[in-house]
Amino acid sequence: MDDARLMARGNDTQATGRCECGGVQYRVTGELRQVVHCHCTPCRRITGHHMAATATHRDDLHLDVESNLMWYSRTSEVRYGFCNRCGSTLFWMSTDNVSTVAIAAGTLDQPTGLRSVLAIYTGEASDFHVLDDSINSYRGDVPGDVSVWSGLEKGLGN
Ligand SMILES: [Zn+2]
Ligand SMILES: [Zn+2]
Repeated sequence: MDDARLMARGNDTQATGRCECGGVQYRVTGELRQVVHCHCTPCRRITGHHMAATATHRDDLHLDVESNLMWYSRTSEVRYGFCNRCGSTLFWMSTDNVSTVAIAAGTLDQPTGLRSVLAIYTGEASDFHVLDDSINSYRGDVPGDVSVWSGLEKGLGN
């Protein structure tokens, strides 16, 4: 990492992204977590396949355009952010961890520099999906000893 990149960390834009139509546009000014695939049934239906999500601290996500951003509260704990014009799924938040927001990684501008490192709820994956044996997979949620949200160094950063 060169000096300019080092100095930019935490302040300047690390990544940008948007929905398909541009009605929701965002910048991320902090570190992004590596990508986690969620194959749970709600994510499968909402995304049309599976959720591939990075994540960042809520304070590091800046919405430059949010005129079309809407939230779908699937439960009292979990909500998905989407564009009400083009239908893109962009965000996911849980009351379990209000300081973190998951970002649908496909909405990031390329290249992301990220890698897929973990798959969860593979027991609910669609029958046509070919699971990737090369990444850690769990049939349900991650066990408590695997830190998904803050584990940029432990387990999810390698
Ligand atoms: Zn849109
Ligand atoms: Zn899910």
